[in-house]
Amino acid sequence: MNDTISAIATAAGPAAIGIVRISGPDAEAVLRRCFRPLPSELPSHKLLHGWVIDPSTNEPLDEGLAVFMRAPKSYTGEHGVELQVHGGSLNLRRIFEATLSAGARQAQAGEFSLRAFLNGRIDLVRAEAIAELIHAESDEALRVARAQLGGALSKPIEALRLRLLELLVMLEGQLDFGEEDELQDWDSGELARQLEVLQGQLALLLRNQENARWYLGGLRVAFLGPPNVGKSSLFNLLLGADRAIVTERAGTTRDVLEESLRIEEQRFLLSDTAGLATQTDDPVERIGIARSLSTAEQADVLVWLLDAAQLGEGSASLPPDFDAAARLLVVNKVDLLEDPSSARLEVLERELRSYLRGAWAEAPLSWLSARSGEGRQALEKNMLAAARALRAQAEFDMALFCNLRQVEAVRAAAAATARAVQGLAEAYYPLELLCSDVREAAEALGSIVGVIAVDEVLDGIFARFCIGK
Ligand code: GDP
Repeated sequence: MNDTISAIATAAGPAAIGIVRISGPDAEAVLRRCFRPLPSELPSHKLLHGWVIDPSTNEPLDEGLAVFMRAPKSYTGEHGVELQVHGGSLNLRRIFEATLSAGARQAQAGEFSLRAFLNGRIDLVRAEAIAELIHAESDEALRVARAQLGGALSKPIEALRLRLLELLVMLEGQLDFGEEDELQDWDSGELARQLEVLQGQLALLLRNQENARWYLGGLRVAFLGPPNVGKSSLFNLLLGADRAIVTERAGTTRDVLEESLRIEEQRFLLSDTAGLATQTDDPVERIGIARSLSTAEQADVLVWLLDAAQLGEGSASLPPDFDAAARLLVVNKVDLLEDPSSARLEVLERELRSYLRGAWAEAPLSWLSARSGEGRQALEKNMLAAARALRAQAEFDMALFCNLRQVEAVRAAAAATARAVQGLAEAYYPLELLCSDVREAAEALGSIVGVIAVDEVLDGIFARFCIGK
């Protein structure tokens, strides 16, 4: 980090303005070699008008603005310079090369942020959030990144970690100075209580993660029903494409198809499944049915389809009794009904509900013709209402959303904390093991924000104590 780096900071292509960014101890010297005029005393955070010069030929390259940011008040925490010049790939390239001739080195990908991290300007969560912000393709992703840049995740993680470190300080104090290698009774009860609180908070973070899926990843919806009821037709209707094969032969859909659908703010992952025919001799169809069952078990929303033509005859098949967060009923092929008046539909619905069991009897119902598209909006409304109700139940804090690396670390911290709690409940659990559990939990959380050396922090905390205490 004792050299000075430079890079084009704006996207390639024609543009009104482009920025070349420089960071490092020699930023001022580099600027002086390639930008004129400059005052002898360089002000910080002030735009200066002038010309970018090629230092090897003294040729003026472009008119623009330069800003110098004196350390540590810059993104990287080092002296920084930004040259704001005309955009366009070639022009920016020439100006960037001028900064190299002036003594800077080409920066590597992410090197500015790496320096910001190493200089303690941002923690790892914020560094990751910056990358997320740059790559965000949805409003949700953008909101998460913004919140995390503001420390929404780092702060609670850091608070949990410091609590663990305080416990560790106490435990190690006992280990170093205590006579016993076991905790005193009054200590162990209090310690267990505090660890359980931490355990609860870690569990909350993990639960939040589970629920995040409903917001960011999409709610899983499985269409179920006997063969030929119109599952594939509905799938295609909602997606507006011939995604699934529709045929008059029962058992055509043999595998599980998955597609993503957006209705207003909610993303759904739709799976069209093979029918749940109970008896079939076709081994391929049987595998399809097994897959349908496992899809159904994983779904958040189960949609059970019935054939309108079979309703009045009492021969409609009953939905399976899986657990699901939400259920919807769809009666398809209303176009086949001789009398589709609302009075008749009401009678049919009442009849149907009378023999449905459990949560299915209460499930919202929509009438549909997958063939004509009639009733599609009502079904979408029911899907959206179900999603909103689920989201209202599921506590989820967008700002606490963790990426895969962070989740793994939270899991490791939760596992180590659980070990400590369990150990404390046992008749004999060596103090050293307790220390190592708590230390492991703290280190796991530390790795989220990027504190790798727990000992340094420990020293800091120890410094606030005195030996006699
Ligand atoms: P799946 O086996 O449940 O996936 O059913 P399909 O979507 O393959 O449909 C089976 C048959 O029912 C096909 O011949 C479809 O054209 C027909 N079908 C599907 N939806 C409707 C509908 O709303 N009205 C009528 N009349 N026929 C339909």
